[in-house]
Amino acid sequence: MAIKIFNSLTRQKETFVPLEEGKVKMYVCGPTVYNYIHIGNARPAIVFDTVRKYLQYREYDVQFVSNFTDVDDKLIRAAKELGEDVPTISQRFIKAYFEDVQALGCHRADEHPTVMENMDSIIDFIAALVEKGYAYESDGDVYYRTRKFEGYGKLSHQSIDELRVGARIDVGEKKADALDFALWKTAKEGEISWDSPWGKGRPGWHIECSAMAKKYLGDTIDIHAGGQDLTFPHHENEIAQSEALTGKPFANYWMHNGYINIDNEKMSKSLNNFVLVHDIIQQYDPQVLRFFLLSVHYRHPINYSEEILANATASLERLKTSYQNLKHRLEASAGLTDSNELWLGKISGLHDQFIREMDDDFNTANAISVLFDLSKEANYYLMEKNTDQSVIQAFMNEFEQLFAVLGLSLETEELLDEDIERMIEERIQARKDRNFQLADEIRDTLKERNIILEDTPQGTRWKRG
Ligand SMILES: [Zn+2]
Repeated sequence: MAIKIFNSLTRQKETFVPLEEGKVKMYVCGPTVYNYIHIGNARPAIVFDTVRKYLQYREYDVQFVSNFTDVDDKLIRAAKELGEDVPTISQRFIKAYFEDVQALGCHRADEHPTVMENMDSIIDFIAALVEKGYAYESDGDVYYRTRKFEGYGKLSHQSIDELRVGARIDVGEKKADALDFALWKTAKEGEISWDSPWGKGRPGWHIECSAMAKKYLGDTIDIHAGGQDLTFPHHENEIAQSEALTGKPFANYWMHNGYINIDNEKMSKSLNNFVLVHDIIQQYDPQVLRFFLLSVHYRHPINYSEEILANATASLERLKTSYQNLKHRLEASAGLTDSNELWLGKISGLHDQFIREMDDDFNTANAISVLFDLSKEANYYLMEKNTDQSVIQAFMNEFEQLFAVLGLSLETEELLDEDIERMIEERIQARKDRNFQLADEIRDTLKERNIILEDTPQGTRWKRG
């Protein structure tokens, strides 16, 4: 069975055929490191880490590159506000990024290039575009000559004429055509800058990804990925830069993850509703955030709320409890084996179904449903007081393998008193909100962890069972 990927470029699900058999070259646009990452940055990090893990599970050798934008307008503004220099701020938030995404179960990329480290490659790339007539200097700035690139708009499926309508020249820009975009910006007084053939300045945003993808992965890559909001203009511009330079296709498959809403509202500056991963994981198990973000297909929008996260906590706990119960039964049934084809057949059927779902454009939402089926079967098996070690072991292996593919851990930690009290508070709130389903789920989750609740007229008491 082959893997199918929805390609934003063709707007179709296509059979994945890598450039080189058994190898995948993958590039994911990373964050601008001027703050802690918000949940909108966590989604591509988790989604494309899972794509990578799944490709590796299917025995591809994946070369994975993801950049950090460590100099741009936002960083320069932040530096001014904080009275620090740009490298100090970007280094601080690169460190914070690694801490956050590691907690979320993401592996480091093979390369995490930054703009500052790759200034020479970026300048060479721009110079080559000028040489080829695709870019021009204007008073210390360098702009890309958008109209010269045939096929501009092919990723976002817009024609040059449609794009013209929205295009304008901002104050201070020295470009010849409203559609042209900056490759190099001349430095303003006191700003961080680098020497270049066009004087002191710094790169525009789009050029770094073209330069880094080429340097670390080559002229053509297999998969280029990022958030849906990057399709235009960022990814469109990357294609224009790279294909103008090399004359070859830049990326064969383009993958984009959907938006995140917060309490059914778009994340926006005006609502100031950015939820930072750093804050969520103080309160919730980071694995729950990963599980939640994978519970919806990556191309669909996803809605975040505390209530949904509480539900996800209970759901993930149910799966882990099945596994823990299998483990206990295995210990209790030492030495007993009795071949049981029926159950082994069920387990391998669910395994195949999981693979089919993941092969179908990495449908983690359906793959997670398969995990719940596996858990249901395991619970039936245990309920019937079965003790065949080969079956129990097969269930456990399946849990371990499929959890690892999704980057989830099966370990459960002893609940701390403060966690129990927080969950009790959430249950009280859920009952006030007349959300009895959630209230019951919280009680059940606690019960599975041997925490017994007793509702009294004075309030809810708890004890360890
Ligand atoms: Zn990019």
